[in-house]
Amino acid sequence: MPPLAPPHQPDGPTPAAPPMQVLRGLAVSPGIAIGPVVVASPVGRRLPPRKIAREAVAAEKARLDRALEAAEVEADQACAEARDRLGPQYADILGAHARMIGDPTLREGAGRRIEQETIAAEHAVIEVLEAHAARLEQLSDSYLAARAADVRDIEARILGQLMGRRPRGLQDELPGPSLVLAADLSPSETAGLDPRRVLGFATEAGGRASHTAIVAAALEIPAVVGLGKFLDLARQCRIAIIDGDEGLVILDPDAATQERYRDAAEERSERFQVLSRQADLPAETLDGTRLELWGNIEFSGEVEACLGLGAAGVGLYRTEFLFMNAEAPPTEEQQFEAYATVIRSLQGRPIVIRTLDLGADKLESYRASAPREANPFLGLRSIRLSLRDRDLFRPQLRAILRAALLGDVRIMFPLVSTMSELRQARALLAEAAAGLAAEGIPGRGDLPVGVMVEVPAAALVADHLAKEVDFFSIGTNDLVQYTLAVDRTNETVADLYSAADPAVLRLIERVVQAAGARGIDVSVCGTMGGDPLYAMLLLGLGLRHLSMPPHQLPEIRRVIRGIRLDAARALAAEALAMETAAEVADLLQRRLREALPDTPPRSGAPRSEARG
Ligand code: PEP
Ligand code: MG
Repeated sequence: MPPLAPPHQPDGPTPAAPPMQVLRGLAVSPGIAIGPVVVASPVGRRLPPRKIAREAVAAEKARLDRALEAAEVEADQACAEARDRLGPQYADILGAHARMIGDPTLREGAGRRIEQETIAAEHAVIEVLEAHAARLEQLSDSYLAARAADVRDIEARILGQLMGRRPRGLQDELPGPSLVLAADLSPSETAGLDPRRVLGFATEAGGRASHTAIVAAALEIPAVVGLGKFLDLARQCRIAIIDGDEGLVILDPDAATQERYRDAAEERSERFQVLSRQADLPAETLDGTRLELWGNIEFSGEVEACLGLGAAGVGLYRTEFLFMNAEAPPTEEQQFEAYATVIRSLQGRPIVIRTLDLGADKLESYRASAPREANPFLGLRSIRLSLRDRDLFRPQLRAILRAALLGDVRIMFPLVSTMSELRQARALLAEAAAGLAAEGIPGRGDLPVGVMVEVPAAALVADHLAKEVDFFSIGTNDLVQYTLAVDRTNETVADLYSAADPAVLRLIERVVQAAGARGIDVSVCGTMGGDPLYAMLLLGLGLRHLSMPPHQLPEIRRVIRGIRLDAARALAAEALAMETAAEVADLLQRRLREALPDTPPRSGAPRSEARG
């Protein structure tokens, strides 16, 4: 990323130009976008209230009913379109919208307001839904707070029907390719964005767990969210830069900053094109050591990117995303279908299906009423939840065992801390297999079983765990968080979060050795595994499998092909002897640059990685 020039002072050399302002938010979708700015404002909140005569109440309620029905049909259609364009999980978001519109409490609440306050249906809908959205926004839980965007989404759809026009998509308002700055963007607005018209977007609201963030990354639209109030600053702004790698929005950038970013964007895209064309080349070091590069996926649609960019398989399928937009847990059958789709599209390549990693920041909507936890990252999350809630876990295990007959499938348990958790999980897997066999339902009985090593406790007893699993996958996002006691989602301590910390490196070394002693596979599937800065170190520590978001594959392949195993080993030994994360990060930067001088500059290296 190009270094930023200091903002112009108002009394600077070009008084006529508006001062450049640099705002920092959450980087949720990578890339650089530069362009003219459109500040979008929500439809509903601009409508003035309109009173109606008492005699008109019945007709107004009938108008409300018709609009709700039409909006529900429209949301269903949007759901079907999204299924074709983006895959089932995105479509499910819109399917949930259709059900929210059809919910009788909305009809009754708005109807009551029309009757009691003699107001127009538009305003009754706004009152009900804005109150609901405001309640959600006040929740400290970021996942639930982000659901306010879904409520505003259905509000716009219903208002569009009431006002007799199809709700205009955001991009219908754009004069040309632009950057969109908004208070918030709903998931379906985002899903409908055309990346050729919306070059990037930035919003005041939003968190990493929001559907909007997930959809933006899948569409490859650079995005920064959670900027706090900034739209008033932006109203006069004509041009801006959205830096989705670093989470920056630069309003009215000066000429030098624009030029630096344009160059960086061009270089970034040329580089990606060139590297993507090398997807068939093996990830092999200069001295002939072969690595296997796998892709991480959350949604079935991402398999295509994995295959196009040369992934040898899927090293991490985060199945909890199937549960996160749902009103009820997907049934065994629905899960079987989802897993079967992914497995079939991999055409025999291996896939590691991770069982549910729900809880903490990954909350599912139907569990919203579960008791609040003071420290959810240390609470009932992941395998702990699955072991506690057998009715949730059993259908998933059965679905995986059945789907495993369709390809090269391995199962992996997340957040295992102790041997006893592993044994319980394995016992439930065996029970599920026995259940299928007793019912005469085909399923694979001998599925390879692995655990994620992402809790220091697991790393410390990796030698024990290695005796009872077929593979390890190191989840560095959580391993760093738990080793350093730094919340990976908390911006205020983001500078303390670093995979380069010697404590983390020692744990990784220990896990690799434990796997080696038993001859089982070990990979890294956390963000560290897809970060070019760490590729040489991980190779030197003994890793031969790395799994990463598909778009990181070309860059990691390039790094591997430009380094030597002996140099990587020397680097690992040097790093392991260091005392601070800063020293290690500095060493990694230097060695990477020495080995591959054309590596693009990287600002704030280890700090942005908490955004896993
Ligand atoms: C990890 O913790 O590194 C990991 C891959 O799991 P997740 O990011 O889904 O917690
Ligand atoms: Mg994890």
